[in-house]
Amino acid sequence: MKKSQLPHKVCPVCGFSFNWRKKWASQWEQIVYCSERCRRNKRSKVLNVDG
Ligand SMILES: [Zn+2]
Repeated sequence: MKKSQLPHKVCPVCGFSFNWRKKWASQWEQIVYCSERCRRNKRSKVLNVDG
């Protein structure tokens, strides 16, 4: 059995662990945040669990 092991990263804003996605194939190395929302939140130091 082969298990495809996709690379994953952990979003520094929300701490969410997200996997490689096909749409990120060409820019995976540049992907840091799990979503556009988190990318915009990078400015503020997010320590709130309740986001
Ligand atoms: Zn995030």
